[in-house]
Amino acid sequence: MLPYQILEEAETALGRNLTFAETIWFKYSSQKSDYFLYCHNTIFLFLFYTLVPLPYVFMELMQSKNIDKFEIQSKVKNSFPDMFRCYKTVMQTFVLAVGPLQLFSYPVIEWVGIRTGLPLPSGSEMFWQLLVYVVVEDYTNYWLHRLLHCEWGYEKIHRVHHEYTAPIGLAAPYAHWAEVLILGFASFLGPLMVPRHMITFWLWMILRQAKAIETHSGYDFPWTPTKYIPFYGGAKYHDYHHYVGGRSQSNFASVFTYCDYIYGTDKGYRYQKEVFGKLKEKLRSKGEENGDAYHIFAQDLKSK
Ligand SMILES: [Zn+2]
Ligand SMILES: [Zn+2]
Repeated sequence: MLPYQILEEAETALGRNLTFAETIWFKYSSQKSDYFLYCHNTIFLFLFYTLVPLPYVFMELMQSKNIDKFEIQSKVKNSFPDMFRCYKTVMQTFVLAVGPLQLFSYPVIEWVGIRTGLPLPSGSEMFWQLLVYVVVEDYTNYWLHRLLHCEWGYEKIHRVHHEYTAPIGLAAPYAHWAEVLILGFASFLGPLMVPRHMITFWLWMILRQAKAIETHSGYDFPWTPTKYIPFYGGAKYHDYHHYVGGRSQSNFASVFTYCDYIYGTDKGYRYQKEVFGKLKEKLRSKGEENGDAYHIFAQDLKSK
């Protein structure tokens, strides 16, 4: 809760007029407890889990040739009941693990000192803080994910997430509750190391969810803005990890590709890209669909 009763008090304390964003924040948050503001995360996540994958659901159901040509594994189709079943399971895990994790983690957030007051962080401050959060999560997630691919971790926990060998946007958070908690740790690590403003924390939670939905979308659109981010993995990169499954030992990274490159866990994917390129040319000369090349190659890799 802000320590000011009226806007003028805040302006006197800051020694200047509030910006437009600060005025909105003051009006919205001044009478709300920090815990209540923190709980907004749960609502944001619920909305993101539900609304952001919807365009991908419609694209899948439309079965339009113009859109399907961007589908990474175009042979695999999901019906509406299939996707609804996925959403139902995701919501069960949300109620069981994600919601409680968000609500009960507040004492830690309070302890490290994520603030809700004024002034608000500037745009550039938020950018650099979010970048730190992404890098910290990406590196931690790489190792935790790799650990989940050990025999015990895969059989007992991670297998659930890999039920989708052709991922869809709705299946981004489709995972065992224990995996949600394990990988949730990686997401909290950045804000715990560099605690800043609640708005930055909200943005971080939204950003990582949007990123997970995009990388599981199953579509590789050439105009995706993330293609301009250096070392960004993206949908095609993570799709490969799902297709080859538990045996892949490849493409563990969740955002950037550098960990896989440094630790040598992208060799299969790089080989695939090379062979896939040649295969695509061959199939194109025969007038066949691009998606087939991926399918044939992955089948070949699985049989080895
Ligand atoms: Zn995996
Ligand atoms: Zn995945």
